[in-house]
Amino acid sequence: MSVLAPAPAAAPTRPLISEWSTMPRAHVLGGGPTGALTALALAQAGWRVQLTDPLSGAQLQARRRAYALSHSSRLFLQRLGLWQQLAELAIPFRSLRLCDLEAGRAIGFGPAEVGFGSASPAEAGAVGWILQHQLLMRSLLERLEAHPAISLRLGEAESRGVPSLDPDCLGPPDLVVAADGSSSPTRESAGIGHWRLPYGQGCLTAQVRLRSSAPDQAWELFRREGPFAVLPLGDGTAQMVWSAPAGRLRQLEALDPVAFLDALAATLPDSLQPEALLERPRAFPVALELARSFHRGSLALVGEAAHRCHPVGGQGMNLCWRDVEELQRQALRAAAGKLSPAAVAAAYGRRRWPDVLLTLLSTDLLVRIFSNRQPLLLRGRRLALGLMGRSSTLRHLSLKAMTLGPCRLAALWSE
Ligand SMILES: Cc1cc2nc3c(=O)[nH]c(=O)nc-3n(C[C@H](O)[C@H](O)[C@H](O)COP(=O)(O)OP(=O)(O)OC[C@H]3O[C@@H](n4cnc5c(N)ncnc54)[C@H](O)[C@@H]3O)c2cc1C
Repeated sequence: MSVLAPAPAAAPTRPLISEWSTMPRAHVLGGGPTGALTALALAQAGWRVQLTDPLSGAQLQARRRAYALSHSSRLFLQRLGLWQQLAELAIPFRSLRLCDLEAGRAIGFGPAEVGFGSASPAEAGAVGWILQHQLLMRSLLERLEAHPAISLRLGEAESRGVPSLDPDCLGPPDLVVAADGSSSPTRESAGIGHWRLPYGQGCLTAQVRLRSSAPDQAWELFRREGPFAVLPLGDGTAQMVWSAPAGRLRQLEALDPVAFLDALAATLPDSLQPEALLERPRAFPVALELARSFHRGSLALVGEAAHRCHPVGGQGMNLCWRDVEELQRQALRAAAGKLSPAAVAAAYGRRRWPDVLLTLLSTDLLVRIFSNRQPLLLRGRRLALGLMGRSSTLRHLSLKAMTLGPCRLAALWSE
């Protein structure tokens, strides 16, 4: 698959009245990061879009969390003309240190392993970017409000089942997009079942000031109780993404700030010294979840309504946005008259399986292989990490698979 060149960020213009009534129509349910981006991507593809969320704009921005964005997200956001603005808000990390603390091995990924020939030096040199939820949502909501083909209905309790569109939209929508999160009421009311495989571990997030850490370095630490990521947020602060058994996380959540920082210091490598806790740590359950189908009729499931994976490797949000990218590809075909608008959901749903399955499988394997001290696995991990440490080709391939998604390795050869 070739990587498309970024489009210039042109201000959206209001369609002519004659065009308006013939434009295909979509209703996006859910205004989280996936639904908001879906609405923008469909509108850019020449669709009229209505976006509904029971939460208000202020509530949609209120979460304290940060996302690790990969190059697959960067390339898509560039095509949508959103990257420039978001890149100014995101913190790039130029090196990623991966440490297997049980096997005593560590490897580093840096600009040499990224190697995007067509990207600008700043983009090619970043392994990834960390973006705070509030900044992301503020920026997306501004774009949504400004787009003439998008009608926003935030803060309204939406009834379950087939949604209604604005009265000025004639007839039902050609496409309904469920972007309503992992417990997706729309998926449930459409009768699409889903598989759920809970992990023995949950995940705790906390923002912390560190005394000593390179500002552009991220860490993925593999420990017996679960993976631990340290994501730089700028100004000496970082987000901790701490996976461990649920009982242990509950204890950590209940600690006072000083005791929590002590527990954190005992967990992190000596080179990372926590200085201050900037927010109350919060734990949430993690599970591998997968809808049995990504579409039904004109309904398409995107983001966590379709799948959910372990936070290891920061794949979740990027996988959600690759859904949006595929949906937009099919929506563009429909707008160009190459596909019936009513067939977009099915075309999208069929094409998403390989990327979603491979990403879910790889994150699951990482958790299973690295969250233990099984002697045979420890030996295999030492061998594999030793080989990767010596081979820049292996490091390059594995980073590309992580940052572009497993199905896009072919881009290695086309760039
Ligand atoms: C507590 C917690 C902390 C997390 N921390 C991190 C983190 O630090 N880093 C990270 O990368 N990921 C994190 N994640 C995962 C990340 O939040 C998800 O990957 C991401 O939010 C998925 O986006 P989404 O838009 O698909 O779903 P969501 O963000 O869940 O958005 C779904 C939206 O649908 C709306 N909705 C619900 N029902 C309806 C309805 N009937 N009609 C219309 N709209 C509806 C909801 O109000 C919501 O706004 C965290 C998840 C949780 C639960």
